[in-house]
Amino acid sequence: MDYNKLADILFCDVTKTPEDYNALYPARNLPESAEVTRIAPSPTGFIHLGNLFGALADERIAKLSDGVFYLRIEDTDEKRKVEGAVEAVLDSLGYFGLKFDEGAEIGGNYGPYYQRQRADLYRTFAKELVKKGLAYPCFCTEEELSAVREIQQENKENTGYWGKYAKCRNLSLEEIERKISEGAPYVLRLRSPGNVENKFTFEDEIKGKITVCENDLDIVILKRDGIPTYHFAHVIDDHFMGTTLVVRGEEWVATLPIHLQLFELLGFERPKYAHTAQLMKIDNGKKRKLSKRHDPELSLEYYKSLGYHPTAVKTYLMTLLNSNFEEWFLANPEKPLEEFEFSVSKMGQSGALFDTMKLDDISKTVISNMEADDVLSFYENWVKEYASDDYDVIFADKAFIKKIIELQMAIGSKKRRKDFICAKQMHGLFGYYFTQYFKPTYDFKLDSEMSRTILEKFIAVYNIADDNETWFNKVKEIASELGFAVKMGDYKKNPDAYKGFVGDVAEIIRVAVTGIKNTPDLCTIMQIIGEDESRKRIADAINHLS
Ligand code: GLU
Repeated sequence: MDYNKLADILFCDVTKTPEDYNALYPARNLPESAEVTRIAPSPTGFIHLGNLFGALADERIAKLSDGVFYLRIEDTDEKRKVEGAVEAVLDSLGYFGLKFDEGAEIGGNYGPYYQRQRADLYRTFAKELVKKGLAYPCFCTEEELSAVREIQQENKENTGYWGKYAKCRNLSLEEIERKISEGAPYVLRLRSPGNVENKFTFEDEIKGKITVCENDLDIVILKRDGIPTYHFAHVIDDHFMGTTLVVRGEEWVATLPIHLQLFELLGFERPKYAHTAQLMKIDNGKKRKLSKRHDPELSLEYYKSLGYHPTAVKTYLMTLLNSNFEEWFLANPEKPLEEFEFSVSKMGQSGALFDTMKLDDISKTVISNMEADDVLSFYENWVKEYASDDYDVIFADKAFIKKIIELQMAIGSKKRRKDFICAKQMHGLFGYYFTQYFKPTYDFKLDSEMSRTILEKFIAVYNIADDNETWFNKVKEIASELGFAVKMGDYKKNPDAYKGFVGDVAEIIRVAVTGIKNTPDLCTIMQIIGEDESRKRIADAINHLS
């Protein structure tokens, strides 16, 4: 067969040569240890935690090695494309502070970064394969292919287009010309020289040595519309875009032999691969993959809408990505996570267990270490976007809400409080500070008469100017007058001698003023809401008890 002739018939539109592309995309001028990484999402509009997980690893690896992190859009499947999906990727990852050095919508010297715009490049190299006898057109219909699959299943053979089943492998040039002139649609297949009996070992950056079989399938490299499959586009793009390390989900290990084979047949040096573990969760005691359908926490919008701080989510993901990160984080909770020495070799080999409780825990620590102003502006942005009806009330006076945040975080005290998990939860905590939202359902621990007496006595001595100590001394006096122990020790030694403990007395005032039993320092809360409001709330509670 005259392969050159076949190549000219199939690719009469191709005018460029491999040399043109070698010149267009020269090797990157980077230090030897620099890693070039990328994420390559399909524009389906759903960008999930798994994408962020991989992107975070890519970004860290590129940044720490003075390399490049870029965005390529794998839009070869027109059916799955969603308008605005690329903006959504940039928005979502931007929210988490991940910035690309180059890529779709950003630009760079290795573009276009949308695969659909790179058709000429793929076709030029597909033509090369045809010229070398390594690719051929296949006219098989869907029906023919499924008939073959059935036979293979019956025979308990590997399914797919291989060996004796690869009907179009040996078509003559005349037959091909005839079919084309008849307008028969065709795909372009690889003529795989591989033998599935041959095993070889491959070194994955995360999984270590993996033994795989050679690929013997004549896989499709260009679809009927001339657009490449993932396999072919991956190899061409990662070569010409100069990727040095492909970080992708472990679901791609199964087709890795195809990719390695394509690199070899095209004469390209292959990048390193790091196949990341799936994100798992425990569901009813069983470990399973996070799923788009069942787990809202897989979507990045979930974290954004609940107002998880991006640093908290990233910090949590880092604990899943690098086994030694948590130890570092606990020892350095105030350091930016960019200072951690991320390493591919410390990435987990088996399913990373996603646990929202742990995320909450980390989030508390991350937020407690932030500046009050940063927490304030983060919260403000969240309210604007997700609770805009409350914005005018909460942000009517910024100094007021800032005081609340400072108190809730215990800014200025030796040990910060860890009250805050996410903006939505913060929002829920702040209700009692605002007259408009204060709707208490009083739950007093002591009987009505005693509760009322406590409140009456307190209101008689209350003075907004009191500092914490004076304030508390007044509460202690009331406690002791009414037969409550002032010292916990005394109460514990002899509980029957007392009506209770000073904390019980303070709780009555707390419930009257805030409606809840657990708050930061009550004296300061009363200072924040002001004298009139404090007095009014206590009076309302007394009324309620009368
Ligand atoms: N488009 C592929 C995906 O979304 C990319 C895999 C890769 O990173 O190579 O899964």
